[in-house]
Amino acid sequence: MNPSVLSVASEIYPFIKTGGLADVVGALPAALGHQGIAVRNLVPAYPDMMRQIGKDATERVLTIPELFGGVSHVLALRKDGLDLFVLDAPHLFDRPGGPYITSGGQDHEDNWARFAALSKAGALLAEGAIESYRPDILHAHDWQAALAPVYIRFSASHPPVKTVVTIHNLAFQGSFPFEVFPKIGLPDAAWSIEGVEYYGGVGFLKGGLHAADAVTTVSPTYADEILTPEGGMGLEGLLRGRGDRLTGIVNGIDTDVWSPTADPLIAKTYTAKTLKTRRANKRALEAEFGLLHDDTPILAVVSRLTWQKGMDVLASLCDQIVALGARLVVVGSGDRMIEGAFHAAHARHPSQIGIRIGYSEVLSHKVQAGADALLIPSRFEPCGLTQLYALRYGCIPVVSRVGGLADTVIDANFAARSAGVATGVIFSEVAARPVLDAIAKTLRLYADQPLWQAMQKRGMATDVGWATSAARYAELYRDLTKDVTP
Ligand code: ADP
Repeated sequence: MNPSVLSVASEIYPFIKTGGLADVVGALPAALGHQGIAVRNLVPAYPDMMRQIGKDATERVLTIPELFGGVSHVLALRKDGLDLFVLDAPHLFDRPGGPYITSGGQDHEDNWARFAALSKAGALLAEGAIESYRPDILHAHDWQAALAPVYIRFSASHPPVKTVVTIHNLAFQGSFPFEVFPKIGLPDAAWSIEGVEYYGGVGFLKGGLHAADAVTTVSPTYADEILTPEGGMGLEGLLRGRGDRLTGIVNGIDTDVWSPTADPLIAKTYTAKTLKTRRANKRALEAEFGLLHDDTPILAVVSRLTWQKGMDVLASLCDQIVALGARLVVVGSGDRMIEGAFHAAHARHPSQIGIRIGYSEVLSHKVQAGADALLIPSRFEPCGLTQLYALRYGCIPVVSRVGGLADTVIDANFAARSAGVATGVIFSEVAARPVLDAIAKTLRLYADQPLWQAMQKRGMATDVGWATSAARYAELYRDLTKDVTP
Protein backbone atom coordinates (compact mmCIF):
# COMPACT_ATOMS: atom_id res chain seq x y z
CA MET A 1 0.00 0.00 0.00
CA ASN A 2 1.28 3.45 -0.87
CA PRO A 3 1.24 5.89 2.05
CA SER A 4 -0.95 8.97 1.79
CA VAL A 5 0.58 12.33 2.63
CA LEU A 6 -0.63 15.53 4.25
CA SER A 7 1.66 18.37 3.16
CA VAL A 8 1.63 21.47 5.39
CA ALA A 9 3.13 24.70 4.06
CA SER A 10 2.70 28.46 4.17
CA GLU A 11 2.80 28.91 0.36
CA ILE A 12 1.67 26.95 -2.65
CA TYR A 13 1.97 27.78 -6.34
CA PRO A 14 -0.15 28.90 -8.20
CA PHE A 15 -2.14 30.46 -5.37
CA ILE A 16 0.35 32.12 -3.10
CA LYS A 17 4.09 32.48 -3.72
CA THR A 18 6.95 34.51 -2.32
CA GLY A 19 9.76 32.18 -3.44
CA GLY A 20 10.89 28.71 -4.36
CA LEU A 21 9.02 27.05 -1.48
CA ALA A 22 5.71 27.67 -3.24
CA ASP A 23 6.96 26.20 -6.52
CA VAL A 24 8.11 23.02 -4.78
CA VAL A 25 5.00 22.57 -2.66
CA GLY A 26 2.80 23.19 -5.71
CA ALA A 27 4.65 20.83 -8.08
CA LEU A 28 5.51 17.88 -5.85
CA PRO A 29 1.95 16.53 -5.42
CA ALA A 30 1.46 15.85 -9.14
CA ALA A 31 4.91 14.25 -9.37
CA LEU A 32 4.13 12.08 -6.35
CA GLY A 33 0.79 11.23 -7.92
CA HIS A 34 2.75 9.54 -10.71
CA GLN A 35 4.42 7.46 -8.00
CA GLY A 36 1.00 6.38 -6.73
CA ILE A 37 1.15 8.65 -3.69
CA ALA A 38 -1.82 10.88 -2.89
CA VAL A 39 -1.00 14.27 -1.36
CA ARG A 40 -3.37 16.76 0.25
CA ASN A 41 -2.09 20.24 0.99
CA LEU A 42 -2.91 22.35 4.03
CA VAL A 43 -2.32 26.08 3.49
CA PRO A 44 -3.56 29.29 5.17
CA ALA A 45 -6.51 31.26 3.82
CA TYR A 46 -4.71 34.51 3.04
CA PRO A 47 -6.92 37.09 1.27
CA ASP A 48 -5.23 36.31 -2.06
CA MET A 49 -5.90 32.63 -1.57
CA MET A 50 -9.57 33.25 -0.75
CA ARG A 51 -9.99 35.52 -3.77
CA GLN A 52 -8.78 32.72 -6.01
CA ILE A 53 -10.69 29.84 -4.46
CA GLY A 54 -13.69 31.87 -3.25
CA LYS A 55 -16.70 30.23 -4.79
CA ASP A 56 -15.13 26.76 -4.92
CA ALA A 57 -14.40 26.71 -1.20
CA THR A 58 -17.77 25.67 0.06
CA GLU A 59 -17.03 22.45 1.89
CA ARG A 60 -16.20 22.95 5.57
CA VAL A 61 -14.70 19.68 6.72
CA LEU A 62 -13.60 20.77 10.18
CA THR A 63 -14.43 23.47 12.69
CA ILE A 64 -11.88 24.31 15.36
CA PRO A 65 -13.81 26.34 17.95
CA GLU A 66 -10.75 28.08 19.37
CA LEU A 67 -7.50 28.33 17.42
CA PHE A 68 -5.17 31.01 18.72
CA GLY A 69 -7.88 33.55 19.40
CA GLY A 70 -10.81 32.66 17.18
CA VAL A 71 -12.99 30.08 15.56
CA SER A 72 -11.43 28.51 12.48
CA HIS A 73 -12.57 26.23 9.71
CA VAL A 74 -10.79 23.87 7.38
CA LEU A 75 -12.21 24.06 3.86
CA ALA A 76 -11.63 21.26 1.37
CA LEU A 77 -11.53 21.65 -2.39
CA ARG A 78 -9.73 20.53 -5.50
CA LYS A 79 -8.39 23.25 -7.77
CA ASP A 80 -5.71 23.43 -10.46
CA GLY A 81 -4.94 19.77 -9.94
CA LEU A 82 -4.27 20.20 -6.20
CA ASP A 83 -6.22 18.73 -3.30
CA LEU A 84 -6.38 21.59 -0.86
CA PHE A 85 -7.26 21.97 2.79
CA VAL A 86 -7.47 25.70 3.41
CA LEU A 87 -7.23 26.98 6.98
CA ASP A 88 -9.82 29.71 7.21
CA ALA A 89 -8.85 31.62 10.35
CA PRO A 90 -9.69 35.27 9.59
CA HIS A 91 -8.27 36.58 12.88
CA LEU A 92 -4.86 35.24 11.78
CA PHE A 93 -4.75 35.37 8.00
CA ASP A 94 -7.36 37.78 6.64
CA ARG A 95 -5.33 40.99 6.65
CA PRO A 96 -3.34 43.20 4.29
CA GLY A 97 0.33 42.59 3.57
CA GLY A 98 2.16 39.46 2.51
CA PRO A 99 2.14 35.99 4.05
CA TYR A 100 4.83 36.99 6.54
CA ILE A 101 5.10 40.77 6.51
CA THR A 102 2.80 43.76 6.85
CA SER A 103 2.24 46.26 4.05
CA GLY A 104 4.89 48.35 5.85
CA GLY A 105 7.48 45.60 5.48
CA GLN A 106 7.58 44.47 9.15
CA ASP A 107 7.01 40.88 10.29
CA HIS A 108 3.42 40.36 11.41
CA GLU A 109 3.94 40.56 15.16
CA ASP A 110 1.81 37.46 15.78
CA ASN A 111 3.62 35.25 13.25
CA TRP A 112 4.28 32.80 16.08
CA ALA A 113 0.50 32.38 16.54
CA ARG A 114 -0.29 32.33 12.83
CA PHE A 115 2.09 29.51 12.06
CA ALA A 116 1.61 27.63 15.31
CA ALA A 117 -2.06 27.62 14.23
CA LEU A 118 -1.20 26.26 10.79
CA SER A 119 0.93 23.56 12.43
CA LYS A 120 -1.75 22.76 15.00
CA ALA A 121 -4.40 22.39 12.31
CA GLY A 122 -2.04 20.09 10.42
CA ALA A 123 -1.49 17.98 13.52
CA LEU A 124 -5.25 17.75 14.14
CA LEU A 125 -5.86 16.56 10.57
CA ALA A 126 -3.03 14.05 10.87
CA GLU A 127 -4.51 12.77 14.12
CA GLY A 128 -7.79 11.99 12.43
CA ALA A 129 -9.92 15.08 13.18
CA ILE A 130 -11.85 14.36 10.01
CA GLU A 131 -13.55 10.98 10.14
CA SER A 132 -12.82 10.02 6.55
CA TYR A 133 -9.20 11.17 6.37
CA ARG A 134 -6.19 9.43 7.91
CA PRO A 135 -2.87 10.34 6.31
CA ASP A 136 0.12 8.08 6.94
CA ILE A 137 2.66 10.89 6.68
CA LEU A 138 2.60 14.55 7.69
CA HIS A 139 5.17 16.43 5.61
CA ALA A 140 5.96 19.87 7.06
CA HIS A 141 7.78 22.47 4.98
CA ASP A 142 10.04 25.03 6.67
CA TRP A 143 9.62 26.69 10.06
CA GLN A 144 6.06 27.82 9.40
CA ALA A 145 4.86 24.21 9.50
CA ALA A 146 7.57 22.75 11.70
CA LEU A 147 5.56 22.73 14.94
CA ALA A 148 3.21 20.12 13.45
CA PRO A 149 5.56 17.20 14.18
CA VAL A 150 6.12 18.66 17.67
CA TYR A 151 2.37 18.72 18.40
CA ILE A 152 2.16 15.14 17.16
CA ARG A 153 5.20 13.99 19.16
CA PHE A 154 3.76 15.47 22.37
CA SER A 155 0.18 14.45 21.67
CA ALA A 156 -1.55 12.41 24.37
CA SER A 157 -3.27 10.28 21.72
CA HIS A 158 0.02 9.05 20.19
CA PRO A 159 -1.20 9.03 16.60
CA PRO A 160 0.51 6.51 14.32
CA VAL A 161 1.29 9.14 11.68
CA LYS A 162 4.96 9.56 10.65
CA THR A 163 6.46 13.01 10.14
CA VAL A 164 8.93 14.61 7.76
CA VAL A 165 10.35 18.13 7.92
CA THR A 166 11.91 19.63 4.81
CA ILE A 167 14.35 22.52 5.20
CA HIS A 168 14.04 24.87 2.24
CA ASN A 169 16.20 27.53 3.85
CA LEU A 170 17.88 27.18 7.22
CA ALA A 171 18.29 30.95 7.48
CA PHE A 172 14.61 31.22 8.42
CA GLN A 173 14.10 29.35 11.69
CA GLY A 174 11.02 30.81 13.36
CA SER A 175 12.71 31.80 16.62
CA PHE A 176 10.59 33.56 19.24
CA PRO A 177 11.03 34.71 22.86
CA PHE A 178 10.30 32.43 25.79
CA GLU A 179 7.00 34.27 26.49
CA VAL A 180 5.48 32.51 23.48
CA PHE A 181 5.88 29.04 24.99
CA PRO A 182 2.90 29.05 27.41
CA LYS A 183 0.68 30.25 24.55
CA ILE A 184 1.38 27.58 21.92
CA GLY A 185 -0.39 24.76 23.71
CA LEU A 186 2.47 22.34 24.22
CA PRO A 187 2.94 20.43 27.50
CA ASP A 188 5.71 21.49 29.90
CA ALA A 189 7.79 18.54 28.72
CA ALA A 190 8.19 20.32 25.38
CA TRP A 191 10.24 23.02 27.11
CA SER A 192 13.40 20.98 26.75
CA ILE A 193 16.25 20.08 24.46
CA GLU A 194 14.01 17.40 22.96
CA GLY A 195 11.26 19.98 22.44
CA VAL A 196 11.19 23.57 21.27
CA GLU A 197 13.63 25.17 23.71
CA TYR A 198 16.32 26.93 21.66
CA TYR A 199 18.93 29.14 23.35
CA GLY A 200 16.40 30.20 25.96
CA GLY A 201 13.64 30.97 23.45
CA VAL A 202 11.23 28.97 21.32
CA GLY A 203 12.54 27.52 18.04
CA PHE A 204 9.82 26.32 15.70
CA LEU A 205 12.20 24.79 13.16
CA LYS A 206 14.49 23.48 15.88
CA GLY A 207 11.56 21.70 17.52
CA GLY A 208 10.41 20.22 14.24
CA LEU A 209 13.87 18.97 13.32
CA HIS A 210 14.03 17.16 16.64
CA ALA A 211 10.53 15.75 16.55
CA ALA A 212 10.31 14.62 12.93
CA ASP A 213 10.89 11.01 11.98
CA ALA A 214 12.96 12.19 9.01
CA VAL A 215 14.49 15.45 7.87
CA THR A 216 15.19 16.36 4.28
CA THR A 217 16.67 19.33 2.57
CA VAL A 218 16.62 20.38 -1.03
CA SER A 219 20.01 19.35 -2.40
CA PRO A 220 22.78 16.89 -1.47
CA THR A 221 25.42 19.63 -1.21
CA TYR A 222 23.23 21.75 1.09
CA ALA A 223 22.66 18.63 3.21
CA ASP A 224 26.44 18.54 3.74
CA GLU A 225 26.80 22.31 4.19
CA ILE A 226 24.25 22.52 7.01
CA LEU A 227 26.34 20.13 9.09
CA THR A 228 29.12 22.75 9.25
CA PRO A 229 29.31 25.77 11.59
CA GLU A 230 29.14 28.18 8.61
CA GLY A 231 26.13 26.52 6.99
CA GLY A 232 24.37 25.13 10.06
CA MET A 233 23.37 28.51 11.48
CA GLY A 234 23.34 27.15 15.03
CA LEU A 235 21.54 23.92 14.18
CA GLU A 236 24.55 21.95 12.89
CA GLY A 237 24.89 19.95 16.12
CA LEU A 238 21.25 18.90 16.11
CA LEU A 239 21.42 18.06 12.40
CA ARG A 240 24.58 16.00 12.82
CA GLY A 241 22.68 14.05 15.45
CA ARG A 242 20.04 13.14 12.86
CA GLY A 243 22.65 11.04 11.04
CA ASP A 244 21.23 9.07 8.15
CA ARG A 245 17.76 10.50 8.82
CA LEU A 246 18.89 13.68 7.02
CA THR A 247 18.67 13.41 3.24
CA GLY A 248 19.30 15.90 0.42
CA ILE A 249 16.82 15.58 -2.43
CA VAL A 250 17.29 18.10 -5.19
CA ASN A 251 14.21 20.07 -6.30
CA GLY A 252 12.72 19.65 -9.71
CA ILE A 253 10.63 22.17 -11.60
CA ASP A 254 7.18 22.02 -13.12
CA THR A 255 8.09 21.40 -16.74
CA ASP A 256 4.55 22.21 -17.89
CA VAL A 257 4.61 25.69 -16.38
CA TRP A 258 8.24 26.23 -17.45
CA SER A 259 8.42 25.11 -21.04
CA PRO A 260 9.87 27.29 -23.81
CA THR A 261 8.01 25.19 -26.37
CA ALA A 262 4.59 26.10 -24.96
CA ASP A 263 4.98 29.10 -22.65
CA PRO A 264 2.08 31.54 -23.17
CA LEU A 265 3.94 34.31 -21.32
CA ILE A 266 6.84 34.67 -23.76
CA ALA A 267 6.96 36.52 -27.10
CA LYS A 268 7.80 33.46 -29.17
CA THR A 269 8.04 29.80 -28.23
CA TYR A 270 11.08 27.79 -29.34
CA THR A 271 12.85 24.46 -28.99
CA ALA A 272 16.51 23.44 -28.92
CA LYS A 273 16.18 22.86 -32.66
CA THR A 274 14.76 26.35 -33.32
CA LEU A 275 17.11 28.34 -31.08
CA LYS A 276 17.27 31.14 -33.66
CA THR A 277 13.65 31.90 -32.86
CA ARG A 278 14.75 32.65 -29.31
CA ARG A 279 16.10 35.97 -30.61
CA ALA A 280 12.54 37.31 -30.80
CA ASN A 281 12.40 37.00 -27.04
CA LYS A 282 15.65 38.92 -26.66
CA ARG A 283 14.17 41.71 -28.80
CA ALA A 284 11.00 41.67 -26.67
CA LEU A 285 13.08 41.88 -23.50
CA GLU A 286 15.03 44.84 -24.86
CA ALA A 287 11.76 46.58 -25.67
CA GLU A 288 10.29 45.77 -22.27
CA PHE A 289 13.29 47.32 -20.49
CA GLY A 290 13.96 50.16 -22.91
CA LEU A 291 17.34 48.80 -23.99
CA LEU A 292 18.81 49.41 -27.41
CA HIS A 293 18.49 46.59 -29.91
CA ASP A 294 21.86 44.96 -30.53
CA ASP A 295 23.59 41.62 -30.30
CA THR A 296 25.63 42.20 -27.17
CA PRO A 297 24.77 39.69 -24.46
CA ILE A 298 22.07 40.36 -21.90
CA LEU A 299 22.89 39.11 -18.42
CA ALA A 300 19.93 38.85 -16.08
CA VAL A 301 18.77 38.47 -12.50
CA VAL A 302 15.41 37.21 -11.22
CA SER A 303 15.81 37.12 -7.49
CA ARG A 304 15.20 38.44 -4.06
CA LEU A 305 17.66 41.33 -3.83
CA THR A 306 19.39 40.25 -0.64
CA TRP A 307 22.75 39.47 0.90
CA GLN A 308 22.06 35.74 0.65
CA LYS A 309 21.73 36.10 -3.10
CA GLY A 310 24.98 38.09 -3.37
CA MET A 311 23.08 40.99 -4.87
CA ASP A 312 25.12 43.57 -2.95
CA VAL A 313 28.21 42.33 -4.82
CA LEU A 314 26.47 42.32 -8.18
CA ALA A 315 24.99 45.80 -7.66
CA SER A 316 28.53 47.10 -7.11
CA LEU A 317 29.67 45.69 -10.47
CA CYS A 318 27.18 47.35 -12.83
CA ASP A 319 29.65 49.84 -14.32
CA GLN A 320 32.21 47.08 -14.95
CA ILE A 321 29.58 44.89 -16.59
CA VAL A 322 28.73 47.68 -19.01
CA ALA A 323 32.45 48.35 -19.58
CA LEU A 324 32.89 44.68 -20.52
CA GLY A 325 30.31 45.16 -23.26
CA ALA A 326 27.36 43.40 -21.69
CA ARG A 327 23.92 44.53 -20.63
CA LEU A 328 22.03 43.73 -17.43
CA VAL A 329 18.35 43.19 -16.67
CA VAL A 330 17.21 42.88 -13.05
CA VAL A 331 13.80 41.74 -11.81
CA GLY A 332 13.56 41.57 -8.05
CA SER A 333 12.92 43.23 -4.75
CA GLY A 334 14.33 43.14 -1.27
CA ASP A 335 16.99 45.14 0.46
CA ARG A 336 16.33 48.88 -0.06
CA MET A 337 20.06 49.70 -0.34
CA ILE A 338 20.54 47.12 -3.08
CA GLU A 339 17.41 48.28 -4.92
CA GLY A 340 18.79 51.81 -4.73
CA ALA A 341 22.18 50.75 -6.11
CA PHE A 342 20.54 49.08 -9.12
CA HIS A 343 18.32 52.14 -9.69
CA ALA A 344 21.38 54.38 -9.64
CA ALA A 345 23.17 52.07 -12.11
CA HIS A 346 20.17 52.25 -14.43
CA ALA A 347 20.24 56.05 -14.21
CA ARG A 348 23.91 56.00 -15.24
CA HIS A 349 23.37 53.47 -18.08
CA PRO A 350 19.71 53.67 -19.15
CA SER A 351 20.33 51.90 -22.48
CA GLN A 352 22.35 49.06 -20.98
CA ILE A 353 20.80 48.38 -17.59
CA GLY A 354 17.09 47.67 -17.07
CA ILE A 355 15.57 47.40 -13.60
CA ARG A 356 12.13 46.28 -12.46
CA ILE A 357 11.69 46.42 -8.71
CA GLY A 358 8.85 44.18 -7.64
CA TYR A 359 7.51 40.73 -8.19
CA SER A 360 6.33 39.65 -11.62
CA GLU A 361 5.73 36.06 -12.58
CA VAL A 362 5.22 37.16 -16.20
CA LEU A 363 8.53 39.02 -16.39
CA SER A 364 10.35 36.11 -14.79
CA HIS A 365 9.35 33.96 -17.78
CA LYS A 366 10.23 36.68 -20.29
CA VAL A 367 13.68 37.06 -18.76
CA GLN A 368 14.44 33.34 -18.89
CA ALA A 369 13.39 33.25 -22.54
CA GLY A 370 15.12 36.44 -23.65
CA ALA A 371 18.32 36.87 -21.65
CA ASP A 372 21.55 35.15 -22.65
CA ALA A 373 22.76 34.30 -19.15
CA LEU A 374 21.32 34.29 -15.64
CA LEU A 375 23.54 35.50 -12.79
CA ILE A 376 23.13 33.74 -9.42
CA PRO A 377 26.00 34.76 -7.10
CA SER A 378 24.41 33.33 -3.94
CA ARG A 379 26.40 33.13 -0.73
CA PHE A 380 24.33 30.08 0.11
CA GLU A 381 21.58 28.44 -1.90
CA PRO A 382 19.71 25.42 -0.52
CA CYS A 383 18.65 24.40 -4.01
CA GLY A 384 17.75 27.35 -6.19
CA LEU A 385 15.15 27.08 -8.90
CA THR A 386 16.03 29.90 -11.25
CA GLN A 387 19.12 28.07 -12.56
CA LEU A 388 16.84 25.13 -13.43
CA TYR A 389 14.45 27.41 -15.33
CA ALA A 390 17.47 28.95 -17.03
CA LEU A 391 18.78 25.55 -18.16
CA ARG A 392 15.39 24.69 -19.59
CA TYR A 393 15.14 28.00 -21.46
CA GLY A 394 18.64 28.00 -22.98
CA CYS A 395 19.70 30.86 -20.71
CA ILE A 396 23.20 30.00 -19.45
CA PRO A 397 23.38 29.92 -15.62
CA VAL A 398 26.37 31.67 -14.04
CA VAL A 399 26.41 30.53 -10.42
CA SER A 400 28.43 30.31 -7.24
CA ARG A 401 29.61 26.87 -6.13
CA VAL A 402 27.17 26.40 -3.24
CA GLY A 403 24.24 24.14 -2.37
CA GLY A 404 21.95 23.13 -5.17
CA LEU A 405 23.71 25.42 -7.64
CA ALA A 406 26.80 23.19 -7.39
CA ASP A 407 24.60 20.10 -7.79
CA THR A 408 22.74 21.19 -10.93
CA VAL A 409 25.13 23.20 -13.12
CA ILE A 410 28.27 21.85 -14.83
CA ASP A 411 31.02 24.46 -15.18
CA ALA A 412 32.48 25.12 -18.60
CA ASN A 413 36.03 24.32 -17.52
CA PHE A 414 38.48 22.72 -19.94
CA ALA A 415 37.63 19.15 -18.98
CA ALA A 416 33.86 19.66 -19.19
CA ARG A 417 34.16 21.49 -22.50
CA SER A 418 36.34 18.72 -23.91
CA ALA A 419 33.90 16.08 -22.70
CA GLY A 420 30.98 18.08 -24.08
CA VAL A 421 29.07 18.23 -20.79
CA ALA A 422 29.28 21.90 -19.71
CA THR A 423 26.00 23.71 -19.06
CA GLY A 424 27.06 26.91 -17.28
CA VAL A 425 29.72 28.84 -15.43
CA ILE A 426 30.61 28.26 -11.78
CA PHE A 427 32.78 30.43 -9.56
CA SER A 428 33.94 29.82 -6.03
CA GLU A 429 33.92 33.04 -4.07
CA VAL A 430 31.16 35.63 -3.82
CA ALA A 431 33.26 38.79 -4.02
CA ALA A 432 33.71 41.47 -6.67
CA ARG A 433 36.79 40.04 -8.41
CA PRO A 434 35.69 36.40 -8.78
CA VAL A 435 32.17 37.41 -9.87
CA LEU A 436 33.56 39.80 -12.45
CA ASP A 437 36.01 37.12 -13.66
CA ALA A 438 33.09 34.71 -14.08
CA ILE A 439 31.18 37.34 -16.07
CA ALA A 440 34.24 37.94 -18.28
CA LYS A 441 34.52 34.18 -18.83
CA THR A 442 30.82 34.06 -19.74
CA LEU A 443 31.33 36.78 -22.33
CA ARG A 444 34.26 34.88 -23.86
CA LEU A 445 32.09 31.79 -24.12
CA TYR A 446 29.31 33.88 -25.71
CA ALA A 447 31.76 35.11 -28.34
CA ASP A 448 32.27 31.48 -29.41
CA GLN A 449 28.71 30.98 -30.67
CA PRO A 450 29.01 27.29 -31.70
CA LEU A 451 30.24 26.45 -28.18
CA TRP A 452 27.61 28.68 -26.58
CA GLN A 453 24.77 27.12 -28.54
CA ALA A 454 26.02 23.65 -27.71
CA MET A 455 25.83 24.61 -24.02
CA GLN A 456 22.35 26.03 -24.48
CA LYS A 457 21.14 22.83 -26.12
CA ARG A 458 22.72 20.68 -23.45
CA GLY A 459 21.05 22.73 -20.73
CA MET A 460 17.71 22.44 -22.48
CA ALA A 461 18.15 18.66 -22.62
CA THR A 462 19.09 18.39 -18.94
CA ASP A 463 16.55 16.53 -16.82
CA VAL A 464 15.21 19.21 -14.48
CA GLY A 465 11.78 17.67 -13.92
CA TRP A 466 10.47 16.12 -10.76
CA ALA A 467 10.34 12.43 -11.67
CA THR A 468 13.67 11.34 -10.13
CA SER A 469 13.30 13.41 -6.97
CA ALA A 470 9.65 12.52 -6.47
CA ALA A 471 10.70 8.86 -6.59
CA ARG A 472 13.15 9.58 -3.76
CA TYR A 473 10.46 11.23 -1.62
CA ALA A 474 8.18 8.26 -2.36
CA GLU A 475 10.93 5.88 -1.26
CA LEU A 476 11.40 7.87 1.96
CA TYR A 477 7.66 7.82 2.73
CA ARG A 478 7.46 4.06 2.06
CA ASP A 479 10.50 3.42 4.19
CA LEU A 480 9.04 5.41 7.09
CA THR A 481 5.72 3.59 7.01
CA LYS A 482 6.88 0.07 6.23
CA ASP A 483 6.72 -1.07 9.86
CA VAL A 484 3.42 0.59 10.68
CA THR A 485 0.61 -1.92 10.76
CA PRO A 486 -2.61 -0.57 9.25
P1 ADP B 1 14.28 31.61 -2.98
O1 ADP B 1 13.18 30.67 -2.70
O2 ADP B 1 15.43 31.55 -2.00
O3 ADP B 1 13.83 33.02 -3.19
P2 ADP B 1 14.63 30.06 -5.45
O4 ADP B 1 15.58 30.20 -6.59
O5 ADP B 1 14.53 28.73 -4.81
O6 ADP B 1 14.99 31.19 -4.38
O7 ADP B 1 13.17 30.44 -5.93
C1 ADP B 1 12.82 31.73 -6.30
C2 ADP B 1 11.51 31.68 -7.04
O8 ADP B 1 10.91 32.96 -6.97
C3 ADP B 1 11.67 31.37 -8.52
O9 ADP B 1 10.48 30.78 -8.99
C4 ADP B 1 11.85 32.76 -9.12
O10 ADP B 1 11.51 32.80 -10.50
C5 ADP B 1 10.88 33.54 -8.28
N1 ADP B 1 11.20 34.96 -8.13
C6 ADP B 1 12.13 35.54 -7.34
N2 ADP B 1 12.06 36.89 -7.43
C7 ADP B 1 11.08 37.15 -8.32
C8 ADP B 1 10.53 38.36 -8.86
N3 ADP B 1 10.96 39.56 -8.48
N4 ADP B 1 9.52 38.26 -9.75
C9 ADP B 1 9.07 37.04 -10.12
N5 ADP B 1 9.54 35.88 -9.67
C10 ADP B 1 10.53 35.93 -8.76
